[in-house]
Amino acid sequence: MEKTSHIRIYGIVQAVGFRPFVSRTALSLGLRGSVANRGSFVEVFLQGGEEAKKEFLKAVENDPPPRSAILRIDHKEVEMERKENFEIIESSREKGDIFVSPDIATCPECSKELYDPKDRRYLHPFINCTSCGPRLTILESMPYDRERTTMGEFPMCEACHKEYVTAETRRYDAQPVCCNSCGPEVYIIGREEKGLYAIQKIRESIMEGKIVAIKGIGGFHLCCDGRNEKAIALLRERKHRPHKPFALMMPDLQTIQKECITSPAQEKLLTGHQKPIILLKKRADSSLPAILAPGNPTLGVMLPYAPLQMLLFDCGEENNKNFTFTDVLVMTSGNVSGAPICRNDEDAVKEIGSFCDLILSHNRKILLRADDSVMEIVEDKPYMIRRSRGYAPLPFILSKDWKGCVLGIGGELKNTFCIGKDALFYPSSYIGDMGDMRSCAALKESVARMGELLESCPQMVCCDLHPKYNTVAAAEEMGLPLLKIQHHYAHILSCMAENDFLSPVIGVSFDGTGYGTDGTIWGGEILHCTPDGFERLCSIAPFRQAGGDMAAKDSWRIAASLLHSLYGENGRAKAAELELCTEKEYKFISMMADKMLNTVISTSGGRLFDAVSAILGLCRSSSFEGKAAMDLQFAALQYKGDKEDLSCGIWEEEGRTILDTFSLVRKITDIYLQEGNREKAAFLFHENLAELIVKGCEKAREKTSLDVCALSGGVFQNSLLLRLVKTKLLQHSFKVLTHSLVPPNDGGIALGQALAAMNILNKRS
Ligand code: ZN
Ligand code: ZN
Ligand code: FE
Repeated sequence: MEKTSHIRIYGIVQAVGFRPFVSRTALSLGLRGSVANRGSFVEVFLQGGEEAKKEFLKAVENDPPPRSAILRIDHKEVEMERKENFEIIESSREKGDIFVSPDIATCPECSKELYDPKDRRYLHPFINCTSCGPRLTILESMPYDRERTTMGEFPMCEACHKEYVTAETRRYDAQPVCCNSCGPEVYIIGREEKGLYAIQKIRESIMEGKIVAIKGIGGFHLCCDGRNEKAIALLRERKHRPHKPFALMMPDLQTIQKECITSPAQEKLLTGHQKPIILLKKRADSSLPAILAPGNPTLGVMLPYAPLQMLLFDCGEENNKNFTFTDVLVMTSGNVSGAPICRNDEDAVKEIGSFCDLILSHNRKILLRADDSVMEIVEDKPYMIRRSRGYAPLPFILSKDWKGCVLGIGGELKNTFCIGKDALFYPSSYIGDMGDMRSCAALKESVARMGELLESCPQMVCCDLHPKYNTVAAAEEMGLPLLKIQHHYAHILSCMAENDFLSPVIGVSFDGTGYGTDGTIWGGEILHCTPDGFERLCSIAPFRQAGGDMAAKDSWRIAASLLHSLYGENGRAKAAELELCTEKEYKFISMMADKMLNTVISTSGGRLFDAVSAILGLCRSSSFEGKAAMDLQFAALQYKGDKEDLSCGIWEEEGRTILDTFSLVRKITDIYLQEGNREKAAFLFHENLAELIVKGCEKAREKTSLDVCALSGGVFQNSLLLRLVKTKLLQHSFKVLTHSLVPPNDGGIALGQALAAMNILNKRS
């Protein structure tokens, strides 16, 4: 028997080259023993000198493999039989906290080999290694081993196998490893071309102005030349997407910097190993066509993250000869609006086949979809808008002693779900809008698959209060104990969860719409929140929102409703002065509001922004969700003048504080009508709404003695409002919790739902 160190390393330690790293480190220090993957952790036994063991632990803590993330190291001494060498033990299954790695963008070493004519993997569209390549999207079950991925059906050639089993190589234990003589193959659906010929054909088609679909890591993209206005217009027409900005892919940072302004923090995220879409400010001298993002001062840009995408821009000297390829590609999700992204040939042909001329595919299967993640950088930190590829399903870890398993089924729009297992919460990739039955099917399938990967079986499900949501129906169908929680409360809980802050907070939930506990529509709320429940302390001034579902698209309808609530009889004259709508239209809206026909009482913050956007003549009707509010924000950002305090107040009504957004809108309308300055009116609206929110928080502090505010809800995707509210709250000595890696919009609420369910589950038992 010999004194042996028994070490368990928890975190992202699978599929990132951890075992070979451990083996190399141990051997270099002359240590004996073994290392094994245990699903949730890597288990190490070490025999040898005490100093060497200390050195080993230091190396693990300070210099682990680049893609790993260590969450905890457990270390104890045991007695064991003497080992003669250091051994890597094959995976065995063990239950516990499981960390599934997200997909990782192609690493610099692989990128170099890709373009080295002497390398075995020269121009290989699937090159990857221990620190890069697909992970979550190809995983069938845990632990992560080749047989349990969709690479299992491709036998390795002799040379690849040798790298795979040799600890000294960059591909030791790299499950998706393959090369030009083994592994998957690229082809064009319904045509003869394969491999590089197929890629070259696609490149030529793009330069001819064609629209193509291209299979990536987590699904298909629709793609065209980002400098060809005709092609972009055609894609807009075919995808029925007249204005919504398209995401762009550019070959390198230098190209991005020719078109956009970048900060060091943005550059770091652009070139990092997740490669999300980053919203960047377009340069004044940008040469890109306006049709890419009409009326929008920003562009969503990413760098290639899969070898196939790199080969589109640069297909080797031979193929680049006498051929100039574009330096900007439109890369938009390959889906029907609202439906999930297509991930196999059958779906691609059926659903997006009519949008494109050719489809470039390959035979490595995608098991779980992963759209591109989208984020803005606010105060040098990520501010997530869509959390998916590269991030999902990394867990959020709460410092709670919770046990059990729950599911938060998520919201109706921008759906993601979240599995909670003990104190770990795993938000899923982006699914889609649940108005589309295909998204509902994808939700059910993904819940089942993620449950399997995480070896979890929910004991309780949490969903929204809304009586008509498809997510609610899906949750009810599961036949498990069901918890229904209010939408805006879920937003605040998600912000608390992300910040691992579970003490009571003042929750500022400014959002589109959500079903309130009183049957009215909420969305501009200040709530007293704890994991056990909430109290509504404050809201914006309630108004009669006429027009039902149509009104969400036609912001002029909301504006007319609001003017009617504000001015009564005089509203018609205001609407005429603002050229908001015809007299007949106004009459119709005001009649509906008066008689409460197709009319709801609303305190929606999102709708307030829509209305002001229409009143200022910025956006009277939107072709995509959020457009009116975005136009209002962009106008405000152009204002260079001074701020003005419009002194809007608050009042108490039925035990609730009301922010006087009526007087705010009246004053903004007057400023606009008197001065004709949209930018000023838009800015003062933001500035003074922020002021009102702070007044609401002050009142909430009086009532609750709390001084921590959590900011969440889709309206806070507006980084100008976020900045203004946060700054003012800090000036008033509040502590402020904001989102970073969880979206403030409905893509984030599943985390809040899962938190609520886990809390209740543990209270009951
Ligand atoms: Zn690599
Ligand atoms: Zn091979
Ligand atoms: Fe919401």
